[in-house]
Amino acid sequence: MTKICRECDEPTDEPIAVALEHTASCGGRVVYLCPLCRSVLGVVPLDQHPAGTGGRVRYEEEMPA
Ligand SMILES: [Zn+2]
Repeated sequence: MTKICRECDEPTDEPIAVALEHTASCGGRVVYLCPLCRSVLGVVPLDQHPAGTGGRVRYEEEMPA
């Protein structure tokens, strides 16, 4: 499943869901990064977020050790 990386705007075959983007009218949309951008930015994959954090982008430095 190819997605466009939010950071570099390139299609990636290994998209990583990192956040939910909420729009006023139509609910949430998943934000994807390619593996390289995710690693460079230190963004936590969405499926590793603590429960109940609303899907905003989280960085690894924010996570408890
Ligand atoms: Zn990228």
